[in-house]
Amino acid sequence: MVDTKQAVVNIGLIGHVDHGKTSITKMLSGKWTDTHSEEIKRGISIRLGFADTVFYKCNKCGAYTSEEKCKCGGKATALRRVSFVDAPGHETLMATMLSGATIMDGALLIIAANEECPQPRTKEHLMAVKMSGVKNVVVVQNKVDLVTKEKALENYNQIKTFLESVGYKDVPIIPVSANMGLNKSELIQAIEETIETPKHDDKANLYMCIVRSFDINKPGNDIENLIGGVLGGTILKGQIKVGDEIEISPMDGEKLITKVVSLRTDKGELEVAKSGGLIAVGTELDPAMSYNDSMKGKVVGHVGKLPNPVSQIELDVTSLERELMKFDKPIFINEPLVLTIGTSTNLGIASAITKNKVKINLKLKSIIEKGQNIAISRNFQNGWHLYGYGRSI
Ligand code: GDP
Ligand code: ZN
Repeated sequence: MVDTKQAVVNIGLIGHVDHGKTSITKMLSGKWTDTHSEEIKRGISIRLGFADTVFYKCNKCGAYTSEEKCKCGGKATALRRVSFVDAPGHETLMATMLSGATIMDGALLIIAANEECPQPRTKEHLMAVKMSGVKNVVVVQNKVDLVTKEKALENYNQIKTFLESVGYKDVPIIPVSANMGLNKSELIQAIEETIETPKHDDKANLYMCIVRSFDINKPGNDIENLIGGVLGGTILKGQIKVGDEIEISPMDGEKLITKVVSLRTDKGELEVAKSGGLIAVGTELDPAMSYNDSMKGKVVGHVGKLPNPVSQIELDVTSLERELMKFDKPIFINEPLVLTIGTSTNLGIASAITKNKVKINLKLKSIIEKGQNIAISRNFQNGWHLYGYGRSI
């Protein structure tokens, strides 16, 4: 029996807006993660969507499903719990997408069969996961119900040519209709065969990225009944236990230290949490401190074990010029840059440049490990666009 309380792999849903990321998540997990369009309309901050599900294989007919009872009536065996990270596809939301790429172990690239391939975000998202080190990708050719067989094949060949041109050669392409639930078993099978469970480094120092934070108290609660702040995030390395003393960084001024009072996933309480999926860490923090995602982008570690926050970094920069071809000049002195560091977004100013090495002064202090990959976006034609990445040296 596999333990399915905590997800063991984070799979990103990437692709151009309206190609069906949220619909595919729904097909695979039964859950509707999309608050993106609603959030845009209401002008509030955009979060990464998460949805967990268990993949099964039917003992009777061999189909792959996300339910324990197969359509054929047979009983299915659990394979693993997976967590989907649904990244927003709007151009203005690249920062959120890039912070999502940090925590993806594999990705599903959703491409609509009824449009030319590639669309701008198809390319940009794939480049973003590539540079954050994601090797295992499954392409979902969605909306095949809207095109003829000939059109679908033509589109399939376009996809193949595109994938080869950006260095993803032997990627499976699965024709699917999310709305009609077509080829769900084939898609799950491709995911199981292509996106392997990463080796989790449980012995390493804890490194958890916060992607949300909350005050879960109802208005009017008595002070003695107040529950401490809750941190939602994903562990990249190490593990966390109930009772651990943890540090949240970077903070202005004093170190912020608290204790873990509870750990939860969608499936219930945990004593120990490891990497994979979204976990909620209940703490003794004043809930006012974690209200409304105020801790988003910060890092959790054990006390004294995190690198010190820095306000200057040096990056060895690789541009995606060849793939994205957008910028008319290289990075220049005093240019403002948007950096995605873990799940945080920071502003920096280029202060010195020698060949590919760029020194950057950061607006806010950041936690950066040596060798960490940082996404760099530049302002061009009145918008921020992904330019490339830098390895911290
Ligand atoms: P996202 O922006 O990539 O998350 O795309 P959504 O999942 O929100 O889908 C965008 C639109 O395409 C919605 O109106 C969906 O109902 C529609 N859609 C998604 N998948 C399919 C499909 O397989 N067939 C058809 N006909 N429409 C689809
Ligand atoms: Zn079956």
